[in-house]
Amino acid sequence: MPTKEELKRKACQAIDRRKDELIGIARDILEHPETGFNEHRTANIVKDKFQAMGVPYSDGLAITGVKGQVDFGAGPGPRLAIIGELDSLVVTEHPNADSDTGAAHACGHNCQIGMMLGATLGLVDDEIKPHLSGSLAPFAVPAEEFIDVEGRLRMREEGKLEFLGGKQELIRIGAFDDVQMAMMCHTASDMGEQSFSVGGTSNGHMVKYVQYIGRAAHAGGAPHLGINALNAATWALNAIHANRETVRENETGRFHGIVTKGGEAVNAVPADVRLEWRVRSSSPEAVVKNNSMVDRCFKAGALAVGAKVKITNIPGYLPMRHDPMLQSLFQSNASDLLGPERVAVIPSRRNRGGSTDMGDLSHVIPVCHPYAGGATGPGHSKSYIIADYEKAVITPAKIMAMVAIDLLAQDAEQAHGVLDQAKPPMDAKRYISYQRQRAEIIDFDGATEL
Ligand SMILES: [Zn+2]
Ligand SMILES: [Zn+2]
Repeated sequence: MPTKEELKRKACQAIDRRKDELIGIARDILEHPETGFNEHRTANIVKDKFQAMGVPYSDGLAITGVKGQVDFGAGPGPRLAIIGELDSLVVTEHPNADSDTGAAHACGHNCQIGMMLGATLGLVDDEIKPHLSGSLAPFAVPAEEFIDVEGRLRMREEGKLEFLGGKQELIRIGAFDDVQMAMMCHTASDMGEQSFSVGGTSNGHMVKYVQYIGRAAHAGGAPHLGINALNAATWALNAIHANRETVRENETGRFHGIVTKGGEAVNAVPADVRLEWRVRSSSPEAVVKNNSMVDRCFKAGALAVGAKVKITNIPGYLPMRHDPMLQSLFQSNASDLLGPERVAVIPSRRNRGGSTDMGDLSHVIPVCHPYAGGATGPGHSKSYIIADYEKAVITPAKIMAMVAIDLLAQDAEQAHGVLDQAKPPMDAKRYISYQRQRAEIIDFDGATEL
């Protein structure tokens, strides 16, 4: 019976043997970016690799998700998911952007697919698989980036989705019902001398789709006959700015968005103006409070010019909760592989400000979501580049395989330990009803409210 250390060494060797192929997958996905729920080509890559590894899978989960199934040989035990996100952003000026769609991997998810496949490769190795208990679900998941809200609302109307984020929808359809714990790693560019980090948290959020309806008229000849929906929106944005100083620092408030339609033609009073908006805060309670403030501001814009506004509030993500035992396994294995001086431990209250649907999953099962170095430039910008694929793909693949071995070797004793102490605040059923309760459409007519 090999020791855990021997198993880890063999898994890392198996990953090293296929290093070029794994980095090649990440580079290939970089060159063919696809946005959330459209990741068909990327999903096909995952299916091909699962097939080559002899891993059966189910596909088409939340449109593009692919979930593998690896049964280990040492007896029953918990099922662990190793997750990789399929989707890109839209960053038209990124050097690897798709010239037709503007899609670009400016958040490093291309590396996540490489590392998820790499960790799987290490664990299905003939010298490892018989010595682990339970099972593995290597899982390529869609749509972590919450973008193209209007397009996703259309998909919802067509009955293809209910929730508009990938893991949210996967929880809804029961794709995590047979998974007891999950892990993934995200790339990062802000690590300094370190190359791996654990800890910290993220914001929760509410996603908003806002439409102002005014009245069109000749902008030069008869503006008095029009109701200017763009002016309504402008007023609302200034009202949001006027409230920012009332938000406490510990709420990590981020209220931001884009105008997706500003009018039809310059010589007509804009009558149909649309915005996608986001309200992020550190706790679900602060999201509710700040979201109602932002709703008030959008109504204020309608009131100011007598326009109508329709605010569609869409359930967004929940703050991230790392399971402490999983996190300490990541810390110890990363330290063993890289040296403790290369591993940062971020205090649990430190909020990165962004949001992830891994936060949603963390409310249902124990999860861990560390960061791996290797990127440069600000995330979500044209300058976000993977400069070191070893750090961004191979290192996290090895660390995830090592953590999986710690969890599932020796009768999965450590995995049972995680499950014994884990206290996720919801189960899937409660999560789904909680999110459904957050969905709301507000119709407000600024011409008749006073
Ligand atoms: Zn991102
Ligand atoms: Zn990301």
